[in-house]
Amino acid sequence: MKVLKFGGTSMRNAEAWKNVLNIINNTGAGTVTVVSATSGTTNALLQAAEVARSGKLEDALSITAGIKASHNAILDEFFGNADAPDRKIANDHLNDTIKKLDTYLLGVSTLGELTPKSLDAISSTGEQLSSFLLVECGKKVGMNAVWVDSAEVLKTDSSFGEAKPNFPLVAERAEIIRAHSNEGAFIILGGFYGSDSNGVVTTLGRGGSDYSASIFALASGADVIEIWTDVSGMFTSDPRFIKHAFSIKELSFNEAAELAYFGAKVLHPATIQPAVERNIPVYVKNTFEPNHPGTRIFSDTLAETPVRAIAFKKDITVITIISSRMLLAWGFLSKVFDVFNKHQVSVDLVTTSEVSISMTVDKKARLDKIIDDLENIGTVKIYENQALISLVGKDLLKSKGIAAQAFNSLSKFPIRMISQGSSDNNLSVVVENDDAIEAVQNLHDAFFVNQPTPENV
Ligand code: ADP
Ligand code: ASP
Ligand code: MG
Repeated sequence: MKVLKFGGTSMRNAEAWKNVLNIINNTGAGTVTVVSATSGTTNALLQAAEVARSGKLEDALSITAGIKASHNAILDEFFGNADAPDRKIANDHLNDTIKKLDTYLLGVSTLGELTPKSLDAISSTGEQLSSFLLVECGKKVGMNAVWVDSAEVLKTDSSFGEAKPNFPLVAERAEIIRAHSNEGAFIILGGFYGSDSNGVVTTLGRGGSDYSASIFALASGADVIEIWTDVSGMFTSDPRFIKHAFSIKELSFNEAAELAYFGAKVLHPATIQPAVERNIPVYVKNTFEPNHPGTRIFSDTLAETPVRAIAFKKDITVITIISSRMLLAWGFLSKVFDVFNKHQVSVDLVTTSEVSISMTVDKKARLDKIIDDLENIGTVKIYENQALISLVGKDLLKSKGIAAQAFNSLSKFPIRMISQGSSDNNLSVVVENDDAIEAVQNLHDAFFVNQPTPENV
């Protein structure tokens, strides 16, 4: 059985939904599909929540009215008539969901407070709508489609906004998916959300629908995961910004996970972990070019080039803590990491000198509190608007000349941090945000364009 996942752009309008249903149908009976909210909807929901919090309820409600209208427009294309009797279930779901959403927004604006719990209730609405309505549209075109509410299956802890799945419980709850699949139905679920042990809706974090797909795949015994998106696979760098970037035929689990972790948005960083557990191959494919083979991600690859791709993440923050003693005293590092542990913020890159330690973080949330705590340990310096660039590959340490070639390409940019060595899989640097694209382009030209090695990728 296959688990397919379609992202926001793949779900952007009625034509895209028809395309998605075609791909599901061609995959065969018993296929499990996870969908994102339609493109722009999650951002609109987050904006509505923030606008409501600031007391502008009318503005927030006009955003939800827009969401209702865009989903109605999709239903119009499938059902023709707003009053068609077979559209009633879809209409009722859409109306009820928007009503519920408006009630949440009223609560947020009345209290003037937006908790992570309320935010999850609001932001998960996009996937609740898209998945349910896609099932109704599937039935309309004659498919045996079944909706399963992810809140019933994807059980998580209660860390709202970044919930962690309870894998054993999800495996139990996935029985319903397996049963429908064995009956040959097309199962459709919303990505991104689940629920905690009290049944309260949680979300997995931005971009989390990819992760939902691999969690469901592991739990329901799937043998393939296909991530359908708006590009033909994982590229040598972000094709939206880097000229001559090209799709990579094969990547190892490690390489793909590392690329995702260091900023290749095409995959949520946690997606690979459930796949590794049972060695499930992951394909990244293009909804708008379904015949392109895309990228196959598996336990190992035959790749010969050491550098496989270049990821980057903009808008990160570098925090430097200078020890108040002359040398890094015993216990200093652990005190620093205790602070990050306490605030549950993960650090991407770390470098140390005799008297200081520098770290990068990509979340702004809780930064003020972290800085307050770090100031008890030493002098703290903050550098905002930085970008992390990572060369990702295989055997980078064993290969001669990689660092020389990389720094040659970066010679005109000031570099704030450099890290290589903790894994054989990446070499990372931090530069100013404004330099990032040009720096990545130079690296990409050096490693992929001026030395083309397409037979190896
Ligand atoms: P979806 O809505 O399908 O989940 P996303 O927008 O989350 O899609 O991810 C797809 C986007 O990821 C692409 O449009 C591309 O701009 C970006 N991206 C960043 N790095 C890479 C990369 N190395 N390969 C492919 N796409 C990448
Ligand atoms: N809709 C959610 C988001 O925009 C989850 C996803 O698309 O993966 O973050
Ligand atoms: Mg995504």
